[in-house]
This record gives sequence, C-alpha cells and structure tokens, in this order.
Amino acid sequence: MKKCEKNILQLPLIALRGFSVFPNMILHFDVARPKSIKALEKSMIEDQEIFLVAQKKVDIEEPEIKDLYEVGTISTIKQILKLPNGIIRVLVEGRTRGKIISFEEEKSYFLVNIEEYLEEENDNIKNEALLRIGVETFEEYAKINNRISTDTIRNIISMESPGKMADAIASNIQLKLENKQEILNVFNEEERLFKVINILKSEIEILNTQKEIMKKVKENIDKNQKEYYLREQLKIIQNELGDKDGIQGEVNEYRNKLNKINPPIEVKEKVEKELQRMLKIPLSSAESSVVRNYIEWILDLPWNKETNNIKRAKKILEKDHYGLEKVKERILEFLSIRQIAPKLNSPILCLVGPPGVGKTSIASSIAKALNRNYVRISLGGVKDEAEIRGHRRTYVGAMPGRIIQGLKQAKTKNPLMLLDEVDKMNSDFRGDPTAALLEVLDGEQNYAFRDHFIELPFDLSNVLFLATANTLDTIPRPLLDRMEVINISSYTEEEKFHIAYNHLIEKQLKKHGMTKSQLRIDKKAIKDIITYYTKEAGVRKLERFIGELCRKAAKEILEKKKKQVRITQNNLEKYLGPKKYRLNKIIEKPEIGVARGLAWTPVGGDTLSIEVNIMKGNGKLELTGQLGDVMKESAKAAISYIRSKAEKFKISSDFYKDTDIHIHIPEGAVPKDGPSAGITMATAMISALTNIAVKNDVGMTGEITIRGRVLPIGGLKEKILAAKSAGIKKVIIPLENEKDLNELEDSIKENMEFILVKSMEEVLKHALLYKK
Ligand code: ADP
Repeated sequence: MKKCEKNILQLPLIALRGFSVFPNMILHFDVARPKSIKALEKSMIEDQEIFLVAQKKVDIEEPEIKDLYEVGTISTIKQILKLPNGIIRVLVEGRTRGKIISFEEEKSYFLVNIEEYLEEENDNIKNEALLRIGVETFEEYAKINNRISTDTIRNIISMESPGKMADAIASNIQLKLENKQEILNVFNEEERLFKVINILKSEIEILNTQKEIMKKVKENIDKNQKEYYLREQLKIIQNELGDKDGIQGEVNEYRNKLNKINPPIEVKEKVEKELQRMLKIPLSSAESSVVRNYIEWILDLPWNKETNNIKRAKKILEKDHYGLEKVKERILEFLSIRQIAPKLNSPILCLVGPPGVGKTSIASSIAKALNRNYVRISLGGVKDEAEIRGHRRTYVGAMPGRIIQGLKQAKTKNPLMLLDEVDKMNSDFRGDPTAALLEVLDGEQNYAFRDHFIELPFDLSNVLFLATANTLDTIPRPLLDRMEVINISSYTEEEKFHIAYNHLIEKQLKKHGMTKSQLRIDKKAIKDIITYYTKEAGVRKLERFIGELCRKAAKEILEKKKKQVRITQNNLEKYLGPKKYRLNKIIEKPEIGVARGLAWTPVGGDTLSIEVNIMKGNGKLELTGQLGDVMKESAKAAISYIRSKAEKFKISSDFYKDTDIHIHIPEGAVPKDGPSAGITMATAMISALTNIAVKNDVGMTGEITIRGRVLPIGGLKEKILAAKSAGIKKVIIPLENEKDLNELEDSIKENMEFILVKSMEEVLKHALLYKK
C-alpha cells in the first residue's frame, strides 16, 4: 500500500460544468464565467496552480461552494488563449487530488484551502493481480467500444500503478459525471482500481446488450431497405418495359373490376387477400400465375348478374318445335309452378328419350323463352367428383369443376343449365360424382355451393337445372328421386316429315347461307329420305342428310351457275347415293322356328328375329346373341310353360331330356335384355318343337309367366314404329297394354292390326300357321 502524504494549499478554484479532470490528464476547456476568469487571472499572477472541481449540477450558472463536489484536482495551467467574446481557452494538466477543507471570503472568485494527496511512486508488485484484472477488463471493454485509440490502450495496459491506471481509464472512458466523481473521490489506489474494474464490468454488460439490440435493429432495417431497393428497381424495369403501373396497376384494375361486379362481402375479402399476395410475390414465379388465374376465375363468375323472366315460353316452344304436345304442356306447367313459388325446392326436369328427338333443343328453347342464358354441361363419361366440384388449388393445373365453368360461360347467375346425359355418368374409385351433383341440385344446400378450386360459396339457387337422358335405367336412384321425368318418345314417319318440312330444312338453309328459292325439296323426296336413308328414333340423321343436300346444291349453284336446285324422288339417289334401307324387312315366307319380336332400346325401337333350332341331345338349353340375364330367365320360364303343356301341344313329354334347344337372336353386337321377348321365344320354340311355321307378317311383344300368362311391356310406341317401318302389319301385344295403345296417335296405328292377348294360347292361335 502506498502512503499518502498530506499538504495544505490555498488556491483559486474553477468550477467545471459537465466534466472533471483527473491527475496526469491534459486537457483544454473554455472559461467564460467572470468568477472563473478572475480565478484564472489570480492563478496566472501567482504560480499557475489552480484547483479544478466539478459542480454537482450542470445547469447552475452561479454556483456557491455547496454546489461543488469536495474532491477535485490540483492542476497546472499550461497555456491560455484569449478568444473573441471574452472567452479564454485554457490548457491544463491534472497533478494531484485535493479536497476542499475551507474557503476564503472572497467575492470576485473562489479561493479555497485544500488538502493535497500526493501519491508516492511505489514499485510494489503486490498489486499485480489487481493490475492484471484491470488490464484484462479494460482490453475487453476497449474491444467492444472501439473509440479508444490503440496508443491510449497501449499506454494504459503498460501502467504499473493501480491508482494511475484507474485514473487513466476513468479519464478515457465515457461515464456519467457522478461515476467519474466517485472514482475521483477514492484516495486509496487499490480501492480505486477495484471500483474502476467494477464499473468497467457493468459497462461491458451494457455495451454488449446495446450491441445486441443494435444488431437486431440493423437487421430489420437492412431487410426493409433491401426490399425497398428491389421494389424500386422492379418499378424501373417495368417502366423500361413500357408497363407503367406494374403489378400495382394490375392490382388496381382487378380491384376496379371487383367493385364493379359487386359480389358478396366474403368474395370481396378473399379477392382482396389474394391481391395483397399478388403484390408480394415476384411476377416471374409460378405462384404468381396461379394467383392471377384464381382471381380471374373469381372475377369472371356472375356473382350478381341475372336476366329477367318473361312469360313468353309457350309461344317460343310452339314456334321452335313440332308436335310434342304433352311435353310442352308439362314443361309449361312446371315453369308456371316455379314462377309462382320460386323458392320451393322444386324437382329437376329430366327429359328422357332416344337421341335426336329434340331434348337439347327443347332445353335451349326454354332458356330462350325465359330469357335466361343457356349452358350445356355434358355429363357423359364423368367419373370423378372433381369434374363436378373442381380440384383443389394445390394441384398442378387445377381448374374449377364443370358447374363453375358453366356459370362462367353463362355470364349470369340464373342461367338454364342443361345437365346432358345424366344416365352416362359413372362412379369409380376417384369418388362419386352423383353425390356432388345431388348437392348441386338440392335447393336446401345449393345456395352455398363450394367448388374446391374457388373455395368460396356460390349461390346456385337461381340456376334453372334441366337434365337429359336416354334411359332411366342407369340414372343413380337418389338422383332420379330428385327429378321429374318427362318422356319424349320416338317420332313417327309422319312426325319426322313435318319436323323436316317445317323446321329442319329452314334451319339447314340458314346454316348454309342459302335461301328458300335456291333449294326445293319435294315432299315425296323428304318422305323417301326418312324411309330409305334413315333408321332412327329422332331426326338427327335426317337433319344431317338435309344438310348434305344443302351443300351439294350450293356446289351445283356455284359450278353450274344454276338459280335453283330441286330435289325430287327421282334424283335423290344422285345426291345422297344409293338407298340404305329396304322398306320391307319381313321374312319372305313363314318359317319353322323363327319368330319376330319387337324390342325397345335406349336409341329407339327395333325388331328382333328370334331363331330356334332343336337337336337330339340331352336337354341342354343354349342361348346366344348377347342376351342379358332377364332374357335368359324369360327363356327358362317359356320352357317351363311348354313342358307343362307338352301334351296339349303334342310334343313328347320327354323333350326336355332328349332334345337340345338353341335359341339365337342375330345382330349379336347389340346387347339385348328385358322380359318382353318372352312370348316371342316361346312361340319360336313351340314352332320348332311342333314343326308348325310362324306367320311371317306377325310381330309380337309380351312377357311370359310359367303358367302362360302374358304380362304388359313398356316402350309400346317405339316397338310399333319399329314394326311399321319393318313392314309388319299385325302386332300381338298384351291386353294390359290396351290403355297405352289407345293413347297413341292414329297416324301410327293406320294400316296396322293389333291383337290384344292375355295368354300364350291366344298368341299361338294368331302367330302359328296351323293347317286348317
Ligand atoms: P337430343 O338432344 O334429344 O338428342 P337434339 O335436340 O339434338 O336431340 O335434336 C336434334 C335436331 O332435331 C335439332 O336440330 C332439333 O332442333 C331438331 N328437332 C328435334 N325434335 C324437333 C321437333 N319436335 N321440332 C323441331 N325440331 C326438332
């Protein structure tokens, strides 16, 4: 421990504002207060020694002795410099610590008696440990706070006196005035260094935390700056490319459109969110086009647009379609109910009938009549739920389902939407489209239909749905339950003629840009097209042939500079080629084991010739020609009936043991099923077993029971039309179908004979050619 000697000195005093001076420290400061200048002058006159002590509060202009700290530094004035404005710049060097013990009553400046503490040079290395800690701590501090010059650092760490080191550190680091004064107050050297080390430690702590905070702040600023910089650059690039407003402009455009279509608030919010996203993601990224695609889809949907209903349905339906009286009537009934109670969960109209009978065209007429936009959605072959309800946006190339696509096409939210071919929809492992479709059609649910792609509820309750099908058999049951079925049956030749004459010719002429005077088709020629060139339930092929005539005529008019082309019965073949069908397809002469059946198929009626061969064998029954299960059972029922009546028919009662029966229905490519060929198969078998021929001009249809009763069948109109076009004049039908027969138009029944039967015996009586 160093010994401190005490001297008493009397010196003028300068009060320091905001800083203090340590021993061995050289610094300059400006003096302006008159009291201080006086003290300076006094000192200059004497031995240039002065006592420098800090005032406790910086803002006191005229401090008194009580406003000053007790401990200060006895210093030597090295230099003074007079500046303008009466300010004096002083260069001083701190010498030793001093403590005020009393002051003299002197008005113009402070004159104080001071106790001076002299520190003796001491080489004692006892303090080595403390010094080392001091050096270490100071170095650490200097490393963080890089304002301290390497010279100062080198100077301080080479010091060997703890007191001097403490003072040097204290005068070189940034500390509050109170802290500096605290250090100045400590006379004991070791204690002083110890104090400085403590202060340094806590300063290091503070500096580290400060640095940490600064780093975070800087990172934040950097990131923002980088983004800002990039965005500015992007703007410049976009400007260069001529895209003045860039993404922002595009977003604004989308926003304007969004406001214009005025969708539900939920939709607005969602689009706004996507627009914000659009601003953030770079133009070149794949996601950007996904977002745009989505926004465009949403903006293209008719969230709020509809057309008005006008009551002119009847006129338009009448004008566009020939015949179909019952169909039109039912459609009008349906529409008026909907108009009276629009919110009623009304069923969906389903038009069922063979191709070409005008289902699609009726639908588009209804749309026209109600002034609704028309869209057709083809459901044929739809297997996947996603085709109805869309793919989630996470899929590559995701798209909305057909319903939403249809709405976009419709451009209004209340179109007539035709669900075409509901009977051709399948379900498989990818999910059942029926369930999705049911949701679409259900009035309780469809006000908030959610497509996976769109992700927003769309109100489908204003859409008028209509369905079409060829057959009811393959429409899923729950779907069928939601529908009101309107059957449209095949057209008679008469009807086809009127349709062609009144509608199709005009339509095709218009389509080919021709006038009525350029092409004339004789009535007889039209009839010949129907009879010899088409064999269909509807009028599709007929329309196509008329179209062909238009094209051929147009060519002729151009090439041969004709004014008019006339199609007659005689020149028809020249235009359409040789006739495709013969009128009479009846078997030329009565045959044993061959009977004529009448069949219904989804594409219209047809005749079937059922052939039976019997051979010696062991009672096998063979059926060929793509027959369905129901038809096979029907054949077995017929055999059971024949066995029970073997005696009556004069057939060996053991025929089922020693005779093989082969039933074949030609045209094997067409699958056939249903019970209505029952009586025909029985007739052919009995004919073969009894060797009695079947009349060649008789056609028949009816289900057979094992007791020989004849049960009613469906599709009577189609069957009779088929018989007629095959040239069959006599038709055997079940008695129970009498009601259906009465409902048929007279033109169908013209020149035909109908035999209504209850039992197989009656059938045989009219069909077999018994020898008289
Ligand atoms: P589907 O949808 O039943 O298969 P389409 O509607 O495609 O039949 O009809 C085929 C063509 O026949 C259309 O040009 C249609 O206008 C016409 N057509 C069908 N039935 C009639 C009818 N009764 N009156 C006028 N044109 C008809």
